[in-house]
Amino acid sequence: MSSPQLPENIKEITDQEVFQFNCQPGVKCFTDCCRQLELALTPYDVIRLRRHLNITSREFLEQYALVEWQEGDVFANVYLGMVDDGHVSCPFVSDKGCAVYGGRPGACRTYPLGRAAFQQPDGSHGSFHVLLREDHCHGFAEGDEQTIGRWTQGQGLQAYNQMNDAMIAILHNPEVTKGFIPTPEQRDLFINTLYDIDAFRALGRVENC
Ligand code: SF4
Ligand code: SF4
Repeated sequence: MSSPQLPENIKEITDQEVFQFNCQPGVKCFTDCCRQLELALTPYDVIRLRRHLNITSREFLEQYALVEWQEGDVFANVYLGMVDDGHVSCPFVSDKGCAVYGGRPGACRTYPLGRAAFQQPDGSHGSFHVLLREDHCHGFAEGDEQTIGRWTQGQGLQAYNQMNDAMIAILHNPEVTKGFIPTPEQRDLFINTLYDIDAFRALGRVENC
């Protein structure tokens, strides 16, 4: 897969490359990145967040998520709803940091990296990473040496990557790439089975999420 043309502050990096980064409560930008976000959630993000909050997936979707489908989209997207506090903040940010740290979404864990996964011609999964250098983020001034592997392990991302990659079979299904348009009922099914996992489990089709 050829790399897309990237803006100057985003650079593809290899597994071997070392970068300096750390994020901890002492940085002067602490929690700045938890505001004005368009934070798309994956089904596994919802499982982890609703488990951390000890609520059902339906309660999570009703209290914290925005489900949006726009003309031209194949499937609906699920976003974390921001709160109207004058800063468009994440509902979980506090002065002490992330109030759902143990269940925070994969995108929060991955930053300042970004990860793209795709299906290869032989059906196996491939992925690549990029490094985002944003002016407001002072984590690059911190001395810790990171690699993709070290960051992935330190942020507990293996399970997220594995579960999110399982979505490739749906999102990059050959029928979808050929232009399949789901009916409104099929779009609802996509949300109700993958994101409202408790309701789906109650139908007896999923074990222990
Ligand atoms: S979930 Fe936590 S880390 Fe992610 S944006 Fe919200 S407060 Fe920040
Ligand atoms: S902007 Fe960067 S260093 Fe600052 S809190 Fe966010 S990730 Fe950490």
